Amino acid sequence: MAERKLPGRNHDHAACMADALRRAERLCYERGAQLTPIRRRVLELIWTDHRPYGAYELLEKLQAERGRVAPPTIYRALDFLLVHGLIHRIESLNAFVGCPRPSDCSAGQFFICDGCGVTAEIADKALAQRIDGAALELGFTVSQRIVEIRGHCRRCHLPEQDEAPVL
Ligand SMILES: [Zn+2]
Ligand SMILES: [Zn+2]
Repeated sequence: MAERKLPGRNHDHAACMADALRRAERLCYERGAQLTPIRRRVLELIWTDHRPYGAYELLEKLQAERGRVAPPTIYRALDFLLVHGLIHRIESLNAFVGCPRPSDCSAGQFFICDGCGVTAEIADKALAQRIDGAALELGFTVSQRIVEIRGHCRRCHLPEQDEAPVL
């Protein structure tokens, strides 16, 4: 099951992030891929919270920690994480989010809050199949079928009702 909820008030993000890193380590181990310290750190930075981070923002964070870091370093790390499905690129923001289910994620659909940036991924296989079916009918070859839905999360939509539960 994909993580379907936007992280709410009681979300234990430390555990969520630790899980994500454990999953990444296991997946890389199974594939014989090297999760080098820099790749791992970039993944960790992306998992700081549930909003997308741009490459430049990540570069700045890394530079704050490690001094000068050449931009290709971050792009290579991002490529690696993308290839292994550990992160997704949110095209409309040119930014990256961690994938909660990297070993079982063939289709990414994202709900993105324009208020706070929180992004929830659903991996709805039926929706992906309908897109593929429509493409087949059109004779259209799909190279990417990330779906990005923009709007406002409950917290941002109802700012005056701060006590309202978040999804
Ligand atoms: Zn979390
Ligand atoms: Zn929001």
